[in-house]
Amino acid sequence: MPRRLTRRGRSRYDSAMEKTIFDGIIAGEVPADVVYRDEHVIAFRDINPQAPVHVLVVPLERMESIAEATSGKPETLGRFMQGIATVARELGLEEKGYRVVFNTGRDALQTVQYVHAHILGGRKLGWPPG
Ligand code: 5GP
Repeated sequence: MPRRLTRRGRSRYDSAMEKTIFDGIIAGEVPADVVYRDEHVIAFRDINPQAPVHVLVVPLERMESIAEATSGKPETLGRFMQGIATVARELGLEEKGYRVVFNTGRDALQTVQYVHAHILGGRKLGWPPG
């Protein structure tokens, strides 16, 4: 099947949502430092870490942002949350604690339109965030 191109020349994988770099990581087409994967989620180190531990957790079932959780499948959302907690535990963050961030939309500077949870830890984190 021929690949459709946007006006800016980027390929689409379907009519509704543009393919993102995270689709490429999930497909194994883009290299990433993967720390966890199961049948529901993948987790890999952020390319531009903001803390000693900075990992992104991504559900294999695509949503653009957590804003879609209002109509998302509870099973998918629950597995996503379980994945976040499991990854944090496996990274050894449970005892001292960690932060989970969902940047959502323009004001929050969401740059990748595929829902992802940032897990940040390994140091004392400031509050409020910028
Ligand atoms: P957002 O601002 O959308 O919440 O966060 C997207 C995150 O993805 C950023 O922290 C950015 O550093 C990370 N990121 C962007 N491109 C890549 C990539 O190709 N590989 C990895 N590992 N992280 C990426």
